[in-house]
Amino acid sequence: MTGRLLRAALVDLAALRHNVISLRERVAPAQFMIVVKADAYGHGAVPVALAAAGAGIRHFGALDIPNALALRAGGLGEENSVLSWLHLPDEEFGEAIDAGVQLTASTIEELGRIADAEAQRTPVVQFKIDTGLNRNGATALQWPELMREAAAFESAGRIRIQGVWTHIAEASEDEDTIAMARFEHAIEVAASLGVRFPVRHLAASSAGFRRADLRYDMVRMGGHCWGIPSFDGITATEMGLIPVMTLVSTVTAVAERSDGSRLAELPLGFVDGLPREARGRVFVAIHGRRFLLDREIWHSSTLLDVTGSDVAVGDPVYLFGTGDHGEQTVREWGDRTGTLGDEIVTRIGVRVPRIYSGA
Ligand SMILES: *Cc1c(COP(=O)(O)O)cnc(C)c1O
Repeated sequence: MTGRLLRAALVDLAALRHNVISLRERVAPAQFMIVVKADAYGHGAVPVALAAAGAGIRHFGALDIPNALALRAGGLGEENSVLSWLHLPDEEFGEAIDAGVQLTASTIEELGRIADAEAQRTPVVQFKIDTGLNRNGATALQWPELMREAAAFESAGRIRIQGVWTHIAEASEDEDTIAMARFEHAIEVAASLGVRFPVRHLAASSAGFRRADLRYDMVRMGGHCWGIPSFDGITATEMGLIPVMTLVSTVTAVAERSDGSRLAELPLGFVDGLPREARGRVFVAIHGRRFLLDREIWHSSTLLDVTGSDVAVGDPVYLFGTGDHGEQTVREWGDRTGTLGDEIVTRIGVRVPRIYSGA
């Protein structure tokens, strides 16, 4: 199946559709946003977004304006909402406004620039409040002033207020509950100043999956859409999800040594995103048999001890994926290398073509 590809990330869009449909059902009646930042965590933002739209997903989180515009240019029509939230201090908002991109404002200054942008259309704005993560968002101190300004801009017809949101740590139940209380309070403060939000959202993959009380009107998910569980002790299969990316390669050389040992070479290294910590910790599968990645991971190749096997040049190698070919999942790779599966897929490099199936 890998057809002698030196290296490839096989992206199963049917699995992606399955995941987003299943997740959307789980969080309903809350709406579902797929977060496609960082090129959809390495899966390819445009193909992923179009596949999700084909499965009926209507909300897309783009992180920033270049990504948001790339989704529109890639064919994501205006029946789908696209939200951006990370803006440069001198960001030009006009093009995004006219492309129907919803913009997040965290400060009065940012809101002013959005309202002042040269655009044919009225900006559609969401507001971000910080509830403890300190990753932008208005502070509780800035919030009332921001809301007064928002109300004034809205009554002057210069913006349309669409939503309010925050981002939470999802590291402990208690912290998340505290963040939720801060979020509620901010919404009350806004209401007392005459600001109402059609859409309120706070949870990402982890909290959104587990806690109905944190879903509000919408849940924003990245990780789970790719079939990577965001918490311990549960597999993708147990969650009803399918890993979307399978990383494959091909044996490019086999060295037979006088002591009878055999080494195989894979044309993938740390420039391709293989974590160097994988050495001695993860397995790859060749013809369903597992081999430990027991040698140093080099710049663009990796050696593997295949002593006692008949592994040969041209054999397909499965690094991580669904497990269907004996390989581990990327979640297992993450656990064993002290990182997150999300981070591993996101870092798969540009030498590794993404090959799509199930479109
Ligand atoms: C990345 C991100 C998400 C998605 O997080 P996951 O844990 O991958 O589901 C949601 N919201 C915001 C603001 C994000 O930056």
